[in-house]
Amino acid sequence: MIEIDGSFGEGGGQILRSSLALSLCTGQPFRINKIRAGRDKPGLMRQHLTAVQAAARIGSAGAEGANIGSTELVFTPGKVIPGDYQFAVGTAGSATLVLQTVLPALLTAPGPSRLVLEGGTHNPFAPPFDFLDKAFLPLVNRMGPRVTATLDRPGFYPAGGGRFTVEIKPAKGLAGFELLERGAVVSRRARAAVANLPRQIAERELRVVERRLGWPRECLVVEEAQGSPGPGNIVTIELAHANVTEVFTGFGERFRSAEAVAEAAVEECRRYLGGAAPVGEYLTDQILLPLALAGAGTFRSVGLSRHATTHMDLIAKFLGARVTTKPAGSHADGTIVSIAAS
Ligand code: AMP
Repeated sequence: MIEIDGSFGEGGGQILRSSLALSLCTGQPFRINKIRAGRDKPGLMRQHLTAVQAAARIGSAGAEGANIGSTELVFTPGKVIPGDYQFAVGTAGSATLVLQTVLPALLTAPGPSRLVLEGGTHNPFAPPFDFLDKAFLPLVNRMGPRVTATLDRPGFYPAGGGRFTVEIKPAKGLAGFELLERGAVVSRRARAAVANLPRQIAERELRVVERRLGWPRECLVVEEAQGSPGPGNIVTIELAHANVTEVFTGFGERFRSAEAVAEAAVEECRRYLGGAAPVGEYLTDQILLPLALAGAGTFRSVGLSRHATTHMDLIAKFLGARVTTKPAGSHADGTIVSIAAS
């Protein structure tokens, strides 16, 4: 039984989700305590509980302590069963984080899967759908499986109610990759989307992007999103290079000006453009786990967040895989991250 201190490192939902993912992939049971101990509302919230339940269903697993507010969980995985599943967070909690939990095990499962996920699709502090679709999944697909995601309708905080569908054609095993350079710029696009809100919010946002990044009009797109149960607004800046696509996001919220929302995305994009490393902060922590499962791979990251270093610790615990890091040169060159099987 692997013992996890849930307050370790980043100390949030990610330790739990990644432990679930690694447990499903390796068949090793674990016990986690102090779940989200440092957060305002400690313990399992609706979104985390949905992740536990999803993992338990897919992995025929036992899950003691799977209740709202629980700070301790014992998870005993069984056989991973691919197939058709539907998981609903039931609140505006992030449905993309539920996917993060169950996807790794299904990438090498003995058959294809189709997942329908409901909840928030564009939540602050979680990968927005567009990031999954354009930045994360293309790297996963480079490892052998074929994963496609379709947004059925967006869901924003606080109304939630979004839905997306993921089709997974697994591979026999995962192949690592090397990603050290971005390659030539292929395309750039800034999209301001509004759901049940005035179009002029999106137009104001794109004016900020135009002024701050100097991009031509044809790179700027306003979208009036259909089907969202509640209001919502998001700015995504998508930068595709030959070897990698990065997505930077500003999340609209009440009492936050359109200009501030756009500025947040622009600021992230400018930081990325100021360096040369291909893999941004969020992509770094998210791609570590599939690469560790592949047991091989090297990439150059803009730098390591606490999410990333916490991941490395969990990877060592479950897989024994070694993750090593070294500076790529000067600070602006980033950090080389390498994974080797133990
Ligand atoms: P946690 O804070 O433990 O719930 O984990 C949050 C997860 O969401 C991490 O894997 C982050 O990389 C990811 N994440 C947070 N914000 C973004 C963003 N703007 N774009 C992409 N991924 C994000």
